[in-house]
Amino acid sequence: MKSRSRLLLVALPALGTLLAGYLSFQSSAVASQPQTPPSTEQALKSFAAMRPIDVHVHVFKEDPAFQALLERLNLKLLNILVVDDTLSYRKSLEPQIKDALALVRSSHGHIDLCTTLDPYKFSDPSFGAETVKQLDRAFAQGAVAVKIWKNIGMEIKDRDGKFIMPDDPKFRPIYQDIARRGKTLMAHLAEPDVAWGPPDPSDPSWSYYQENPQWFLYNKPGFPSKQEILKARDQLLAENPNLRMVGVHLGSMEKNLDNIAAHLDRYPNFAVDTAARMEYLMMAPPEKVRAFLVKYQDRVLYGTDLDLLATADVQESLKEWQSTYVRDWKFLATDETFDWEGKKVHGLKLPEPVLQKIFRDNALHWIPGL
Ligand SMILES: [Zn+2]
Repeated sequence: MKSRSRLLLVALPALGTLLAGYLSFQSSAVASQPQTPPSTEQALKSFAAMRPIDVHVHVFKEDPAFQALLERLNLKLLNILVVDDTLSYRKSLEPQIKDALALVRSSHGHIDLCTTLDPYKFSDPSFGAETVKQLDRAFAQGAVAVKIWKNIGMEIKDRDGKFIMPDDPKFRPIYQDIARRGKTLMAHLAEPDVAWGPPDPSDPSWSYYQENPQWFLYNKPGFPSKQEILKARDQLLAENPNLRMVGVHLGSMEKNLDNIAAHLDRYPNFAVDTAARMEYLMMAPPEKVRAFLVKYQDRVLYGTDLDLLATADVQESLKEWQSTYVRDWKFLATDETFDWEGKKVHGLKLPEPVLQKIFRDNALHWIPGL
């Protein structure tokens, strides 16, 4: 420790000279070249050439600069709704659907809608029948998929004070309807392991629980375990073999590729998306991740969980969208080694046909109508 800080002191003046040189290079570069470095430009160009589909985003705003990004990247989005009783806008479903359909119409084919149901109405006697009607209306208006969210299993209780689970018989007519209409269920059930604790600041999802402590269940007795929730999810897969389910966020099995593989083997109606969990893949041994993605090349859909909130600073958001696509492209498609949040990441350089499936074709196959 001590010797390292002494070394730093010695190195500082030299670093200052280097930094000054770098900065003057940067400022002259800005004037004559595009703002993005060449490898970033190249990554975005190659990404766009796939005509990629991001199956997991949350967009709440119509914006010309955002639309221009979609057009520049040949990018198609599946825009996902959730009903969340902690946010006033997301509390009620109908206004969200209306706004989301307007966004779809203004996107010139770049955005499709994944609607949702309102699980807070679970205890209404007409819950199943009313939900089926509401979903059928959304399908008629063009919705291609339905999201169920982690509030099932982790938040909402029935009249007896028991947590409602995704395999509850009251959901049965809803799943049957989704299957009958040929739509896809996007299931976000449970959370990363770290939500059940113990606290782990090195986990990629840790900051989320700092900002959203209501979902951090460590030392909170009475909540279902992660295993119980995923068991109910598996039960629903087994009971509905004709229902296509995409387990979003790597099916909440983010740290266990063997477990994901076992589920993909057991349930032919199951696929996963990568949304907000690419960092777990980036942390796992590259050879293992590469072998998994090659073996299950038909079962993994590309998603990010990027958002554009109504209150967003669009320019800032666009930077994040772009840098996420660049990062994911470098990781999956190139053999570059790069830094991400202080860690070295090795690109997997997946074969071209595998990339084509992950970034596009699997979305079209698993979510018909996109
Ligand atoms: Zn999401």
